[in-house]
Amino acid sequence: MRPVGRWSRDTMPIVAPRFARWTLLPVCAKRVRSGDVLNARCCTRGPAEAVRVRRYLRKRTVALRGEAEVKQVGHPALRARAVAVPPGEIPSGPLESLVLRMVRSMRREDLVGLAAPQVGLRKQVLVMELTPDGVGEFSPHLREEWGVSPFPLKVFVNPTLQVLDPEVLVLPEGCASIRGFSACVPRHRSVCISGVDVNGQPVSWVARNWAARVVQHEMDHLSGILYIDRMDTKTFTNLDWKETDTGC
Ligand SMILES: [Zn+2]
Repeated sequence: MRPVGRWSRDTMPIVAPRFARWTLLPVCAKRVRSGDVLNARCCTRGPAEAVRVRRYLRKRTVALRGEAEVKQVGHPALRARAVAVPPGEIPSGPLESLVLRMVRSMRREDLVGLAAPQVGLRKQVLVMELTPDGVGEFSPHLREEWGVSPFPLKVFVNPTLQVLDPEVLVLPEGCASIRGFSACVPRHRSVCISGVDVNGQPVSWVARNWAARVVQHEMDHLSGILYIDRMDTKTFTNLDWKETDTGC
């Protein structure tokens, strides 16, 4: 889940800055792959080639960082029901690697939660975290009104959800898989999430207020549900609407 109000990195290219200049131009993928980046511009092949090169560089950069690319709405994994991780794969190297990549991606994109379907994997794996610095980005008024408080890194494999307080709060939220938008979404005030960690040890967490919202948002991802399925449609907002409004 993406906290509304922290969108500055959305518009940044995922490619490394030293490549950013080149990705704006049609360049030769063959030369880029061979490391001959400086001469890549010499043999231009049109916009289609530029798109392919951009995609390649983005993929390489994300892989080199040990991160995972956050998929955007339209990707089939975001609408599929995630399957449980088999007990025989907990713990395992691939599971640890997946969690590590998810945590890195969550932190890089300033998110408070990420589900495996968001990185294209139909697995029941969640990571969530809100640091004190992250809380500081909310105004004192919102912290108080929304009940925002920090929580350490939480990792859940094969989680289940129990509603503890059926009272519903309707507050704005965003999603890294629906970049640039937000909407008000009804969520229960208090829930308990239970599952196992990467080592297979049982873990549970009673989350209240804003943390409970994060848990419910991420749990929805495991069922192929996005916040736009639950939102108050009249509150759906393009967060850049003021920048794109010329006043004409
Ligand atoms: Zn989301």
